[in-house]
Amino acid sequence: METQIQETLLDTQPTLFVSEQTEGGLWGTVLNQLDDVARRLKLNPGIHAILRQPERELTVAVPVMMDDGLIKVFTGYRIQHSSARGPCKGGIRYHPEVNLDEVRALASLMSWKCAVVNIPYGGAKGGVRCDPAQMSEDEVCRMTRRFTAMIMPIIGAKRDIPAPDVNTNSQTMAWMADTVSMLERKTVIDIVTGKPIPLGGSLGRTEATGRGVAIITEELLKRVGQNLSDTTVAVQGYGNVGSNAATILNQMGCKIVAVSDISGGLYNPHGLDIAGINKHVAAHPQRLLEGYEAPGVDGITNAELLTCDANVLIPAALEHQIRADNAPDVQAKMIIEAANGPTTRGADEILNDRGIIVVPDILANAGGVVVSYFEWVQDLQCFFWDEDEVNQNLKRIMVRSFKQVYDFAQEQVVPLRLGAYMLAVDRVAGAVRARGIFP
Ligand code: NAD
Repeated sequence: METQIQETLLDTQPTLFVSEQTEGGLWGTVLNQLDDVARRLKLNPGIHAILRQPERELTVAVPVMMDDGLIKVFTGYRIQHSSARGPCKGGIRYHPEVNLDEVRALASLMSWKCAVVNIPYGGAKGGVRCDPAQMSEDEVCRMTRRFTAMIMPIIGAKRDIPAPDVNTNSQTMAWMADTVSMLERKTVIDIVTGKPIPLGGSLGRTEATGRGVAIITEELLKRVGQNLSDTTVAVQGYGNVGSNAATILNQMGCKIVAVSDISGGLYNPHGLDIAGINKHVAAHPQRLLEGYEAPGVDGITNAELLTCDANVLIPAALEHQIRADNAPDVQAKMIIEAANGPTTRGADEILNDRGIIVVPDILANAGGVVVSYFEWVQDLQCFFWDEDEVNQNLKRIMVRSFKQVYDFAQEQVVPLRLGAYMLAVDRVAGAVRARGIFP
């Protein structure tokens, strides 16, 4: 049976790689990575073609009555890359630069991420092209509710479960769950994760991605024989992921020497007072580092942070921050990719040649989706765990996944990124093969 499927695919699909898709940007990077892995795995060309294209792409028009009485129409997307391993899973992003290719790329990354940590999900992503900074909370709420109604036909607890991403949060998820509940006239909380605790959210979800980044850093340091207390860390981006990663690593004993956000960066070679910085950020109207001052702390730019003197660099802001132009100057010996796609392909080659170890995003920042999975499990069972149970299970999965990727990469003599993608693509391909082609 398997041979038959493979032969059919080989016969009918070898010419699918016409370049109808833009090869630039993050989507180009993700496709190039898949092509490289497919070659190394000697993946059946038909299965390769399946994985190269998202399963389902929905573009929706989202009309919103603005506060001034005028109507604005926003464009929204929900893209399901693969449901081979389970219901699709992925965040919703509100940003002026959201576009089809970006959402495609992020949806594919979710398939690989769920596979690399071996949780029973496929990958999806969604977003609305808008600038939430220019909108009132009421406008964002109305946009969220209309967007949810428009994508409702393809989401669901056993179909596709959205979560927060850039510029969306637990409140956005609460509006989404409430919209579906109102339209279906019953309580539907298992349709999204990252919800507030009183609405079926999970304890530990907010810190989960940063905690996962910290656990991965600890595991890598063990492998290279370096103590946490002898380690200096620089973190770019001080939002949910960056601030939690910095705080937890600091509690574990690391010295955080540099942090930054959109307003600029702070540097102290003797270690920053992370608790003091957190207090400052919590009191700042836009939750920024801007205006923080302390003895021994110098201001640095984001560009300087990426090349500052630290053992570990954690990019936790946006994509494509480490590029061919700044990769030669990176001083860190280890990079833990907390953001999605922070390293360009050109930079990756330079970093590899320089012997810098890069833990790829699909592994390093998977803590968030792992605890989203725990939230979904708790919602489906209507039985909730305490925070210790969440954190212990997160640690178990992150440590296991790191070990699998690290050992596999050593065995194959490839960098961690390639090892992680090879494991992930092989798992998704295995599920596609086992299901066969419908009908
Ligand atoms: P966030 O919006 O809470 O924080 C982003 C941070 O980056 C902010 O401090 C912001 O000021 C800073 N920033 C923005 N532009 C910058 C720039 N040009 N230079 C330096 N700093 C800049 O977002 P987040 O949830 O922390 O997500 C950060 C990254 O992690 C994104 O790539 C996201 O896709 C990824 N990620 C997030 C989660 C999650 O659970 N939140 C999970 C996996 C991956």
